[in-house]
Formats: sequence, C-alpha cells, structure tokens
Amino acid sequence: MLNRKQYDKDIVSAKKLQIEELKERLSEVFDVNTNIHNQNITVAPDEDLLEEIMNIEIPRAGRDAKDVADELVNKVFKTSLLTQHPRFFSFVASGVSPYSIAGSILSDIYNINNCGYETAPPISLIEEKLIRWMGSRAGFGDECGGVFTSGGSLSNLTGMIAARCKKLTEDEYSIGTAYISDQTHSSVKKGFRLMGIKTANVSVIPSDDAFKMRVDLLEEAIKKDLADGKKPFLVVGTLGTTNTGSIDPLDKISEIAKKYEMWMHVDGAFGGSVLFSDIYCHLAKGIEEADSLSWDTHKWAMQVYSCSCIIAKDKKDLINAFMEHPEYLEDVINSEHTDSWDLGIEMSRPARAIKLWYTVQAMGTDLLADVIDYPFFHSSLVKKELEKLEGWEITSPPMCGTITFRFAPKGLSEKEMDDLNGAISRKIIEDNYAYIVTTTIKGKRALRMNMINCNSTDEDIISTVRKLDEIAHELV
Ligand SMILES: *Cc1c(COP(=O)(O)O)cnc(C)c1O
Repeated sequence: MLNRKQYDKDIVSAKKLQIEELKERLSEVFDVNTNIHNQNITVAPDEDLLEEIMNIEIPRAGRDAKDVADELVNKVFKTSLLTQHPRFFSFVASGVSPYSIAGSILSDIYNINNCGYETAPPISLIEEKLIRWMGSRAGFGDECGGVFTSGGSLSNLTGMIAARCKKLTEDEYSIGTAYISDQTHSSVKKGFRLMGIKTANVSVIPSDDAFKMRVDLLEEAIKKDLADGKKPFLVVGTLGTTNTGSIDPLDKISEIAKKYEMWMHVDGAFGGSVLFSDIYCHLAKGIEEADSLSWDTHKWAMQVYSCSCIIAKDKKDLINAFMEHPEYLEDVINSEHTDSWDLGIEMSRPARAIKLWYTVQAMGTDLLADVIDYPFFHSSLVKKELEKLEGWEITSPPMCGTITFRFAPKGLSEKEMDDLNGAISRKIIEDNYAYIVTTTIKGKRALRMNMINCNSTDEDIISTVRKLDEIAHELV
C-alpha cells in the first residue's frame, strides 16, 4: 500500500526544493554562459570519483534530495565535457542558445506528450510550421512534412525506411540496393543494418579529392547492380560530412536518382543549417530535388539535445511508411491534422520543436543566419593563420566551419608525423586550453577543428592556432 501521508509530504518538499533548485541552477547556468571563457573545458573524473559513483546504492528509503542534486551537479555534470566552451573544437558541438535552454526547461515543466495532434494542438501546429519553414529553405513545396526526432541517427533511419516503403515491394527487399559514399556518417550504415539490409546490398562509393561522392562511380555501381538483377532504390548524399565538412554534389546525385527512379535522402544532420544562411545556402544546390532531408538543429543551430528533424518532400510518403491504426487510438485520430506518430518511429516524445521555436522567435532569422555564416569565416581564419607559420599542412580545406591540418615538418616519417599530431592534440587538451582531437584524412593523422560554436571569437581561433604551433615546436 502506498503510504499516502508520507508520499504527500515528500511531494510538497520535493516541489519546494525543485523551485529553489531551479532558481539556483538557472543563475549558475547563466553565470557559466556569461563567463564561458573562464570555465574549464574538461575536468575529467578520476578513478576514485568513478568508483564512488558506481558504489552509490539505489536506496530503499529516499535520501536527502538536496544532497542528490549537489552530487549530480558537482560530481556528474561538472566532470562532463563542456562542449559549448568557445575553444571546444571537436565533434560537431553546438554553442547553445539560452533561448533553447529556456524552451527546453519549459517543455519539461509542462511535460507535454507531443505524440499526436490532440494532446497539444498548438504545439503540433508550431512543429508543423517549423518543419514547413525548414522544408521551404530546402526548396520543398507545400506538400512537405516531417517530425522532430532525437537526432540525426533516427532522422536518417526514418528517411531510409520511407525510401524503402516507397520504392520496393516486400518481395523486393532482398534485391534492393542503396548507395552511400566513403564519407557517409556511421549512423547511415547502422540504419541499414537495423533495417535488415545486407552489407552486400549497400555500395560504398569512393569520394574525390574534395571528399565528395564520385558521381561517375555511383552510376557505374548502379549499372552493375542492375545487370546483376538488383534493384537500386536509395542514394544518400551528405550535406556537411562530419570529418571534413564537405558537401556531396547534390544536384548531380539528384539527376542520377531521377534517371534510375531512386529515392534521394540527404543527411544534413551537420550541414542542414547552411540553409538558414542566405550567403551559403547555395552550397546545398540540388537539395530541392531530394525526397527527404535530415537536419540536426542541436548541432549548428544552437539547440540543446535533442533536436533533429526529418523532412520529406511529400508528407504522404512518411504517412504511408509509418501509419498504423490500433483501436485504442481511434478517438484521438484526427483526420484534419496529421498526428506525428504517423510520420515517424516515435510515439510518446517531448515537445522538441518548442526550444527551436523559442530561439527563432526571440532571435529572429537575421541573427540566426549570422550564427551560421560566422564559422565559415573562422575556418578560413585558421587556414590564413596556419599559412603564416612554418611546417603546417592543410589536409582538407575550410568547409562548413571545419578544417583539418597537421604539423608536418621536413625530415619526419609518416609514422612520426602521425604520433606527433596525436601528441599535439593530447597536450592542448591536457593544458585545458582547447579541445582538438585527431582524425584520419586519406590515411594521415590530422588535427580537426570544427568551429560551428557561436561562442567562439576571432581571438579564440587565432590564439588556438598559435598555441598549437607553440606545442608543436616543443614536442618535435
Ligand atoms: C552527427 C551526425 C549524425 C548523427 O546525428 P546524431 O544527432 O548524433 O544522432 C549523422 N550524420 C552526420 C553527417 C552527422 O554529423
């Protein structure tokens, strides 16, 4: 039996604490954000702390809630990477907008189940409006539709399932073939595996010197598969590859997709946000011909996790792939408005669109566009600064706020250079100055800087390059 008295007492004190906690934490978050340059990028947890966490018991009787909160803040959150630090240049890490944080907290407080239209009609309308607006930035028309998802991985999977539903009958599943490039994100390959598509039915097309899919080789592979009795159904182009920021020739890929009646999905998890920029949206030329597009706003568009979306040029293609009608949902199924459970994989989900809505409404699209443009300048600035120095080699050109390079002084072997660049990365992280890790570019180990973080200043960029040079000369 529930001890009602004890439970009620507990709830009242939890609520009081929640309010105090929220006030305190929000002012702390605000301090961190206004003072972001003075924060540590990483205070890695030591072995003792990890052991302590592992040894915390799941108690039968609850503990003091304030202690739990303090433990979380000091031992759990503060030992995680501060990816919104202005000199955190790894992964594809967002500089978070305070509006996004506010929108996220509001959504959690009201705990809306954004599963279908009836639970929260205005939220559904806001989501639809954002999807259509983003779709229109891609050049999609009024027929477009989609949903917000947890991330690019789920968005990609959703688009790929819609593609198979549209292009193959169930009997053709075993002969359906898909095409990606050697720069395609791992989530796409994982998606194929989840869908039960055999590795042999996924062609990995080599990329060219600029890390873009070789369209000539794409067509060659398609022709060969057709001759072998296979049925090409999907090609995935990338708008902003994770490694170098390169953009596949989407216009040429779309011509091939049309010619062979295939679905074209664009993975814009990283680079979709160039569509917010009037200056750089031309880089996505051809995207208007795509059938579906993944777009993470928790990367370049300042959103807290998680905030991605999948947009299909024709909403009906998503409905055909995902609609089921279990009896208990009959009453809430609304014919006028599409329920988001009919457009994708998830049912219960948070109102992810709200934080983006809050950000866009409060910031305006002009400022948002500036946030997208700035990293292009910063990646060129790194190149310019490196060119002033001796011994540095650019391994991939600035693109989408990303550049890779390495210290390659004369007289060292390839292996020594690989090790040296690894050591440079470790040292700048250890010094807590900047967070830069290495990647492999055409077989060479290189340093990678991704600068989509709107908190980074010109000074952050310039001083980081100088610091790298200093370290490189110490270590060589
Ligand atoms: C980050 C990324 C993904 C995966 O997105 P998540 O939001 O991490 O699931 C997919 N594709 C590309 C190109 C990415 O950069």
